[in-house]
Parts: sequence; structure tokens; C-alpha cells
Amino acid sequence: MWRQLERGLCASRFLELRLDWLADDREIAVFLKKLASKRPKATLIATCRRVEGGGKYRGTVAKQLIHLADAIRAGCSWYDLEIETASASPAELLRVLLPEGRRLTSAHFFERIPANLERIAANLERTRPAAIKIAAQCDSLAESLKLLAFGEAWARKRRQDTVVMPMGEVALPTRLLTLRESGNFMYAPVENATAPGQISLDAMKNLYRADKLNRKTQVYGVIGDPIGHSLSPQMQNAGFQARRVNAVYLPFLVHDLRDFVDAIGPLGIRGFSVTIPHKESILKYLDGCDPLAEAIGAVNTVIVRSGGKLYGYNTDYVGILRSLESRMPLPNSRVLILGAGGAAHAVAFGLAQAGSCVYVSSRRPEKAKALAKATGGHTIAWKHLRHEFFDAILNATPVGMYPNVDQSPLEARELNCRLVFDTIYNPRQTKLLKLAARRGIETVSGVDMFVAQGTAQWEIWTGQRAPVVAMRKAVENALKESEKKQRATRHQAKRGTKSRTKI
Ligand code: NAP
Repeated sequence: MWRQLERGLCASRFLELRLDWLADDREIAVFLKKLASKRPKATLIATCRRVEGGGKYRGTVAKQLIHLADAIRAGCSWYDLEIETASASPAELLRVLLPEGRRLTSAHFFERIPANLERIAANLERTRPAAIKIAAQCDSLAESLKLLAFGEAWARKRRQDTVVMPMGEVALPTRLLTLRESGNFMYAPVENATAPGQISLDAMKNLYRADKLNRKTQVYGVIGDPIGHSLSPQMQNAGFQARRVNAVYLPFLVHDLRDFVDAIGPLGIRGFSVTIPHKESILKYLDGCDPLAEAIGAVNTVIVRSGGKLYGYNTDYVGILRSLESRMPLPNSRVLILGAGGAAHAVAFGLAQAGSCVYVSSRRPEKAKALAKATGGHTIAWKHLRHEFFDAILNATPVGMYPNVDQSPLEARELNCRLVFDTIYNPRQTKLLKLAARRGIETVSGVDMFVAQGTAQWEIWTGQRAPVVAMRKAVENALKESEKKQRATRHQAKRGTKSRTKI
């Protein structure tokens, strides 16, 4: 906990100490003794939340209050008292025990947002605190917006110090966006998340630059389900940072497109990326669409135009075309596409428009046939591939993607081509690319495609040239980091198997 405090202080001078996460009363006493002797220059909030209030402290109310009083003496200027304890403790007792500390009375709803927020806030106020806080699980952006609007209205009407915290992964972007309003704060764990949907302090500071957000900050994001794995926030935020654009790009976990579309106006979203599974379903919410995106039948980029009108593009094919064009002439080239899903569609239409002769091979022949027909191309059975020669082979299936890194859609003897392009970017070097490189064939990784589709999005939204080098570097760094973690996990799993075998 002391290490976390020191790390936290490097990023913020406003920290909460979750004393209830320490093991027992003895540990709390030891920690507070050290705090009293060091007295860091910061505004500290002491919390020792009991199990009844959603915390981890199992002691009595009396012990809890004694720990909080010790914390105030040790240098904390605030303490957070959950409504369960606050309403059971007479105000006079709190005044005598904790005369110096400023009290934040809080209420937590881990299951769902309560129907009557007014009543909850009134109950919190009845304990005569210096500030109140309501944290509630929000399963939609509509619920988050309701909570935030309530917080603003209550602060305006009744008192200045009202804090509301939407919890849950769907609500994650709104947690950050409340920071656009001056005076608000938000919880960010240094190491261990204490509630779902929290953003780590490191990401708050370095990825989303939470301390720089203000009312003029433009909002962009990526919608998908799941979304936690997306590297787009790293790439797009690096672009904004490099060009000093006052904008932030956030991950939106979207189960329900209607809920997201309704939140575009209230959250002031200017544009967004679209990923699986919404690339096709977003079309019916758009007011207009680029003709090629319409032909592909999928949109990965949306810009919000004046009057809130949504206009869609597809930049997935841009990356492939840019990478291939710089390596070979596209008109009349023979290009084989493996797979007939979303990425294959974007690539096939893009290549056909550039004059390539497209061949499609997929495990379901009817899907390959439909795509070939729509793009004026041909189909080819997987088993005949080894007798054919292509200028380029492009993998648009997920075969070889993490965690199945030992798989390849084709064997080495089937790689009769000048160039192999894998759309997969995690890992950067797939088994397919390794096989091709071993045979002296030129290879291109999905990172090129990912960066190109992302920089094209950035340019659509901002109207400026994208800082490609900075954006690519952010992606490479994030991938290196994730590959490191994956290696460590594999290593740990192997060691686990070995030790189990010994037993
Ligand atoms: P998708 O719409 O689900 O299509 C996947 C295609 O792969 C389908 O044709 C599917 O066949 C086929 N497939 C799946 N598993 C297979 C297997 N074991 N053997 C043979 N074929 C298989 O997915 P998508 O959006 O097109 O994505 C495909 C790949 O492109 C993913 O690896 C993704 O990471 C990559 N991608 C990369 C970028 C980038 O920027 N680098 C952008 C978009 C996509 P069925 O129809 O029979 O299931």
C-alpha cells in the first residue's frame, strides 16, 4: 500500500487511501503510523469501508471510526463514510471523534442505478457531511447520463459538493468525460481496481490525459463488443497528442447500438470507429454513406456532421491498398483472398476497384462465390491452391491470431506467390508470415493495415495529415507490451503444468 501511495503521488496530489484493503487492524495501525511520520504533501481521503457498505473492513463501527480518526491525525484531510455507518452514528459522536476531518458521505449501488436518486441524496445530506457521493452501476449510457445529469442538477440546486460515479464497463467513457467539467474528480486505481469499469491511473494520465480535459475537448471513440482489447485508443490518442489537438478517443463497450447513438449528442461525440460486431448493423443509423462503404456493406468510420447527421466510411481497405501499391502494380495483378468475412469484403472491393483480379477462397464455398460475384472476381477451392500462382496471397481469416499463434491457414508448399499479406496484427509475425519469410517471400503484417485504416480515420475526422510515425509507434509499443504479457502467461502456464506433473 505504501508503494502504491508513492506511485500514486507521482501522478496526482489527490489520493484516496483504502484502509479497508489492508489485512487487519494491526496493518492499518502500522500504515497510519508510517503516514503520520512521513506526511506526504497531498490531499488524502481516508476510507475504511465496511463490508455492509461494499468495502472489505470486517471490524465494528467503533473500530472503523477510530481508524478514521487516526487517519485524520496522520494527515488525511477528508474521510469517506458510507451511508450505512454514517446513518448509524450520531452526528455529535462524529464531531467529537473526528473534529478535524471533512466528511464525504457516500452511497454505493453495485447492482443497478437506484430509481429515486433524489431520496438517496436527501438521505446522504441528512448526515450533515461536507460533500456527498453516489456511485452506481450503470448498464447503459442512458443510465450514466441520467446519473451525471442528476449530479449536476443537485449540485446546482442544493449544494456545491456532489460527486456522482457511474460504475461498470459500459459507463467507462462517461467516467472520464465528467472530468471535462471543472471541479469534478474520478477514481482511478494505482494497481487494483476497486469497482468495475475503473481506468487505471496510468491510462488516465498518459493515455487519456484526464488532467487536460476541458469543455472544449472534442470526443471520439471506438464502439465494439468486446472492446477492451482494442489498440485504437493508443493509436488515435497518440495522434491527437502529437498534433496537439484538444481531443480524446475512448473505448465504448456497446451492447445496444440505439443506446450509443442516442448518447452521441449529449456526450458531444464528433466521430467514431466501428468494430466487430457493429460494422454492418451501424448502417441503418446513418444519414449517408460513402459509395464504396455502401457497396462493401460495412462501415468502420463515422463522422458526426452539423445537425448531428452521421456519415459513414470504410477505411479497412485503404490500408491494404496503400501497402500493396507500394510493393507491386495492382492493375491486372492476381490476388488471392483467404476468407469471405468483413475484412475480406473490404479488401476485395478495394482491390477490384484498383484493377486487380481477385480470387476468393473460403471454407464455406457459397460465401466465397457471393463475394467473387459482387466484385467481378473468381473463386478457387482451398485444396487447389497449391497448383496456382498469385502475385499476392492475403489472409483475411482469424487463423493464426492470438492465442492460436501456432496455426496457419496455409502450409509452406501452398505459398506460390511473390508476397504474403496477413491482416492479423496480434501477433505481428504470424506463423503464416514466418513460413513465407522462410521461403524468401516478401511479407506484410496486419500492423500496416491497422495503422493505415486508423490514420485514414484520423484524417477524415480532423481534416489534417495524420502523424503516422507517432501513431504507428504507439501501436508497436502496445503490441510489444501485450506480446511480453502473453509470453509471461505462457511461461507461467508451462511452469504450472510442470509443477503439477511433479506432484
Ligand atoms: P469475420 O467477418 O468473422 O470473417 C472471418 C472469415 O474467416 C470468414 O470467412 C470465416 O469463415 C473465416 N474463418 C474463420 N475461422 C476459420 C478457420 N478456422 N479456417 C478457415 N476459415 C476461417 O472476421 P473479419 O472482421 O473479416 O476479420 C478477419 C481477420 O481480419 C481477423 O483476424 C482480424 O483481426 C483481421 N482484421 C484486421 C484488420 C487490421 O486493421 N489489421 C482490420 C479488420 C480485420 P466462415 O464464414 O465459414 O466462419
